[in-house]
Amino acid sequence: MGKITGFMEFQRQEESYLPPATRLKNYAEFVIPLTNEQAKVQGARCMDCGIPFCNNGCPVNNIIPDWNDLVYRGNYREALDTLHSTNNFPEFTGRICPAPCEAACTLGISEDPVGIKSIEHKIIDEGWEHGWVIPQPAAKQTGKKVAVVGSGPAGLAAAQQLARAGHAVTVFEKSDRIGGLLRYGIPDFKMEKSHIDRRVQQMEAEGVVFRTSVLIGKDFPANVNNMAKETIFPEDLQKDFDAVVLAGGSESPRDLPVPGRELKGVHFAMDFLPQQNRVNAGDKLKDQIKATGKHVVVIGGGDTGSDCVGTSNRHGAASVTQFELMPMPPEQENKPLVWPYWPTKLRTSSSHEEGCERDWAVATKRLEGKGGKVEKLIACRVEWKDGKMAEVPNSEFEMKADLVFLAMGFVSPVATILDAFAVDKDARGNAKASTDGEGCYKTSAAKVFAAGDMRRGQSLVVWAIREGRQCARAVDEFLMGSSELPR
Ligand SMILES: Cc1cc2nc3c(=O)[nH]c(=O)nc-3n(C[C@H](O)[C@H](O)[C@H](O)COP(=O)(O)OP(=O)(O)OC[C@H]3O[C@@H](n4cnc5c(N)ncnc54)[C@H](O)[C@@H]3O)c2cc1C
Ligand code: SF4
Repeated sequence: MGKITGFMEFQRQEESYLPPATRLKNYAEFVIPLTNEQAKVQGARCMDCGIPFCNNGCPVNNIIPDWNDLVYRGNYREALDTLHSTNNFPEFTGRICPAPCEAACTLGISEDPVGIKSIEHKIIDEGWEHGWVIPQPAAKQTGKKVAVVGSGPAGLAAAQQLARAGHAVTVFEKSDRIGGLLRYGIPDFKMEKSHIDRRVQQMEAEGVVFRTSVLIGKDFPANVNNMAKETIFPEDLQKDFDAVVLAGGSESPRDLPVPGRELKGVHFAMDFLPQQNRVNAGDKLKDQIKATGKHVVVIGGGDTGSDCVGTSNRHGAASVTQFELMPMPPEQENKPLVWPYWPTKLRTSSSHEEGCERDWAVATKRLEGKGGKVEKLIACRVEWKDGKMAEVPNSEFEMKADLVFLAMGFVSPVATILDAFAVDKDARGNAKASTDGEGCYKTSAAKVFAAGDMRRGQSLVVWAIREGRQCARAVDEFLMGSSELPR
């Protein structure tokens, strides 16, 4: 423990942001990381709890008290090794994780929690800056071949772990670039894509082969992005590889079955967001959905919706409104009741701060327009009783809408992909595989494993990394009889 009285002496210090007027001018990251002195003070706030709830609250079980102490002492090199021992990609989580560790921090019961995420961000930035993040190729090869389907955080974590265990890993990705939702979902202003490119280079040097624009499967639905130029059938993959990891995400979007859904100007969020990522990467698009000068309504109050808000504001939308079906949560959680779990409370993202009207307990009844183009949204207020929703009488209202983004989450992975592999599904349509005990992460299909959103349903980057790592160990055990990869 760094400074025994640190938690009594020092206040939490947040990472600061560039002002909205500056950051709205472009798509660059705008978070200003802690200085070394600030990080030292933040590390000193950690109480090095006998039972560190932060460690349990973190899905990858980051060894947080240890690196807090190391940062306090200025030993970034060792802090980086400790961080990497549980997390392949801390530069992703240090930027975009909602930080369940901080919700679990013991100091948070009575004070502001330790700024764990900002310290993680600082450690990995130092690591890259000093050239400490280098390829770690396996000392010897096993001669086994593993195919990873999908290059999101789950697929990347699985691939890196398996390559480091000496297996010959090929990652297949139907998009033209690697990264999954990190690349083509999460906007650049939350995480610039150079962070993915650096990791891809590191993994290539460790022996991972990346094949983009390749779809593994047979049929694919039209409402999910697919840039593939080549298709490989599952049976061919199973023939050519000793094991297959399905890490294809949860890509089937939840639709809004109301009259007017078919009008022009009504889009899934994932039609809109990837386009801007592609334009930022230098692609020339013929028909980009542009919010410039338009009245935008975003339906869905989560992360995806918030990313539509931030992107619309950067386009220069005339107005941005976000509706959520659920009631407005309390501004502060009841800490003694919910700690150390993730609390339901009002969350205001940096995108909301940039300009957005938000409204809760609102249901869309229909969309109306002229000449086949959406012009307004008709909604009503709803109330929730005993988990059931009811329309508030006479509460109907209308809202001008030139663009409507549907950001109501994802129902499940693409069923045709799981069906093509003859993988059993759970009740929610995810690939069925347990996470504990013998045969964990293994699906019902021979030598086929599943991890990330494809197995657990739509979730978080940090959970995808955890599953990718754990799945890699399961695959290694399956191929070799035992594994030294961490659990
Ligand atoms: C807009 C948006 C914003 C988000 N923001 C955050 C955030 O701020 N913080 C956070 O923690 N989480 C966030 N999430 C959630 C997070 O991105 C996901 O939980 C995470 O990326 C899941 O990782 P994954 O590897 O399981 O799948 P994905 O990232 O979805 O990657 C799956 C990849 O598999 C590919 N694929 C699928 N099927 C095939 C096939 N048959 N053949 C070849 N390739 C295939 C897909 O093209 C995709 O690239 C966000 C999600 C969205 C949609
Ligand atoms: S719970 Fe908070 S105070 Fe305790 S060890 Fe973890 S970060 Fe430090």
